[in-house]
Amino acid sequence: MNIVEYFSSLSDNPYFGAGFGLFSVGAGAAILRKGYQASLVLFRRHYMITLEVPCRDKSYQWLLHWMTTKGARQTQHLSVETSFEQKDSGHVKTKYDFIPSIGTHFFKYGRTWIRVERTREQHTLDLHMGVPWETVQLTAFGRDKRIYFNILEEARQMALKQHEGKTIMYSALGSEWRQFGHPRKKRPISSVILDTGVSDRIVNDCQEFINNPSWYSDRGIPYRRGYLLYGPPGCGKSSFITALAGELGFSICVLNLSERGLSDDRLNHLLSVAPQQSMVLLEDIDAAFVSRESTPQQKAAYEGLNRVTFSGLLNCLDGVASTEARIVFMTTNYIDRLDPALVRPGRVDLKEYIGWCTRPQLEQMFLRFYPGENAYSLSKKFAEDVLFEEKNVSPAQVQGFFMFHKHAEPTEVLHNYKMIWTL
Ligand code: ADP
Repeated sequence: MNIVEYFSSLSDNPYFGAGFGLFSVGAGAAILRKGYQASLVLFRRHYMITLEVPCRDKSYQWLLHWMTTKGARQTQHLSVETSFEQKDSGHVKTKYDFIPSIGTHFFKYGRTWIRVERTREQHTLDLHMGVPWETVQLTAFGRDKRIYFNILEEARQMALKQHEGKTIMYSALGSEWRQFGHPRKKRPISSVILDTGVSDRIVNDCQEFINNPSWYSDRGIPYRRGYLLYGPPGCGKSSFITALAGELGFSICVLNLSERGLSDDRLNHLLSVAPQQSMVLLEDIDAAFVSRESTPQQKAAYEGLNRVTFSGLLNCLDGVASTEARIVFMTTNYIDRLDPALVRPGRVDLKEYIGWCTRPQLEQMFLRFYPGENAYSLSKKFAEDVLFEEKNVSPAQVQGFFMFHKHAEPTEVLHNYKMIWTL
C-alpha cells in the first residue's frame, strides 16, 4: 500500500474521522481562547487606562475617602474607619467614615465608568506599619491619563479641606511619619501670652523665611531655619509652637530624641521625609544626650542603647536638604546644658527665652480671663501684687489659678492671688 492509499483508508475509518473532528474542535477552541486573551490584552493596553495606588502612597487614604463621597457610595460593600473630630466647643465627636471594602466596585466620574478593585495581600505585611499590604486599582476606558490626575487632585483638595483650620501632629513610627491623635483645632497665637515682642519676633522671622526661598537658593544656602525656645517649664514653649504652626498653616512632626532605637540613620531619614508644610519639633533637647560631666559608666550605659549620638544630630541638622522650607524647633528647660556646637548659627538661627511671667504678661492674662468693667485697672493691680511677692510664677500656674476662679468676681481673684503658689 502506498502512502496515498494509506491516508485515504484512514479517512474512511469512522473512528479516526471522529477523533480528528474532536481534535479540530479542541484546537479551534484553544486558538479562539488564545486569540480572545491576546485581543483582551491588546484592548487593555491600547483602549484602557489603569492606575495602581499602593497603601504606602500618601494619596491612598485620600483616594478611598474621595471615592466613597463621590461615587462608590452606592456600593453595598463598605468597611468602616472610625476617627475623632474636635468640635469648636472642644467636644470630641466620633466620626465613622465608610470606605469601599475589599473587592470590586464601580463608580462614574464625569461620563466615564471606573472599575475599582481594592485588594489585600494575605501574606504580605507593610513592615513599617504592621498592616496587611493593600492596593487599589482603578481601570477606565479611554487613553486620557488626565482623568487620574484630576481624580487625585480632587481627592487631595478634599483631604485638605477636611483639615482646614486644624493642626495635624505627626510622630515617628519606624522610618515614617504617622499622624497621631485627631487633628487639633488651631490655637490662636494671641492666646499664648509671651513677654512683649517675643511672639512677633518669632512669627516675623518664620514668615520672612517661608516667603523668601530664592534668597537661600541664590546664595547656595540650605533652605532651613532652626529655632530654640528655652526657659522654665509651663511658660508656653510647646503651646506657642503649636499655635505658630496653626498660624503658618503647618503641621508638626514631634520627635523624641531620647527614644530607644532612634539611630542616626533613622533620624536623618525622618528629617528628610517629613511631610510637606510641616515643622519638626525636637522637645527637651538637653535630655537626649549625656552631659560632658557624666561619669564614664553613665556614658557607656547610655551609648549601649542604640540612640542618636550628638555628632549624629549635628550632621542631621546640617544635612537637612530639602527644596521645601524646613523649620526645626527645639525646646529645652536648661540651655546651659546644651553644647555650644548645637546652638551655633546655621543649626539654631533664633534663640528666644520664654520665661516666668512679666508684668505685661500677668496683665494680659488677667484681661483675657476677666474682661469687663474696670478690668484694666484691676489687671494692673493683679500684676503689681503678684510681682511684689518676688516669687517666680509661670503662665501655667496663673492659668491654673484663674481656672480655679472661673466663676469668681475679679475682686475675689485679686484677694486670693497668693493661691497661685499653692495650687
Ligand atoms: P512648656 O512647653 O514651656 O513647658 P506648655 O506650653 O506646655 O509649657 O504650657 C503648659 C500649659 O500652660 C498649657 O496649657 C498652656 O495653655 C499654659 N500656658 C503656658 N504658658 C502660657 C502662656 N505664655 N500663655 C498662655 N498659656 C500658657
